[in-house]
Amino acid sequence: MSTQLIARLIDATAGSIEANAELLTQLDQAIGDGDHGLNMKRGFAAIRAARDELSALRLPEALNKAGMLLVTKVGGASGPLYGSLLLAMGKAGAALESNRAGAVSMLSEGVAAVKKRGKSEVGEKTMLEVLVPVLGALRQGVEGGEATAALLERIKRTAREGLEASKPLRATKGRASFLGERSIGHLDPGAQSSCLLVHAVCDVFMAEAA
Ligand code: ADP
Ligand code: MG
Repeated sequence: MSTQLIARLIDATAGSIEANAELLTQLDQAIGDGDHGLNMKRGFAAIRAARDELSALRLPEALNKAGMLLVTKVGGASGPLYGSLLLAMGKAGAALESNRAGAVSMLSEGVAAVKKRGKSEVGEKTMLEVLVPVLGALRQGVEGGEATAALLERIKRTAREGLEASKPLRATKGRASFLGERSIGHLDPGAQSSCLLVHAVCDVFMAEAA
């Protein structure tokens, strides 16, 4: 694993959020309050500003620090939720080997933390429409011994499909739930940001594996 992994993960995720902030804002204007792009941009700008400090840490500690930044710097539901994801992944990772099985356990703990914090489950039109199937794809690929490049491609495809699957759902959590039936037919902003983040992370690991 390259020593620059953390810096690359930060550049890829923060870069993708920055480049797509307007899209996230538009999606949140349709079924929320229109701040998801700004919230995500603020959070990942804080992570990017801590790039040197985070890059000097081991991955679990870096995830922990980045999670704290998201919890403290981002208003809105998404900051504490993504913060919980990273904090739980960091906490789990501290006791695990940095291998594919470790990645499954880390993401599993992270997704469980989002569910707990959000009191939510898949099917409620949230970021979980992406995160839950992505965890399933990762677990299935690792347990089945799938080659890493193929697994990463499948995870990206799964994230895109999860995002699309958010569209016909009626929101029952978060601000979009205030719209009731009118939330149907729109992509969920948090599912979109999760899809972007999953793609950015997969691209970094794809380059690592090449
Ligand atoms: P806010 O809703 O406070 O304005 P954001 O606009 O930044 O915060 O984030 C909205 C996104 O957060 C939603 O699109 C959804 O994916 C996610 N979200 C909101 N509430 C929950 C929840 N209870 N569980 C999981 N995800 C949630
Ligand atoms: Mg919002």
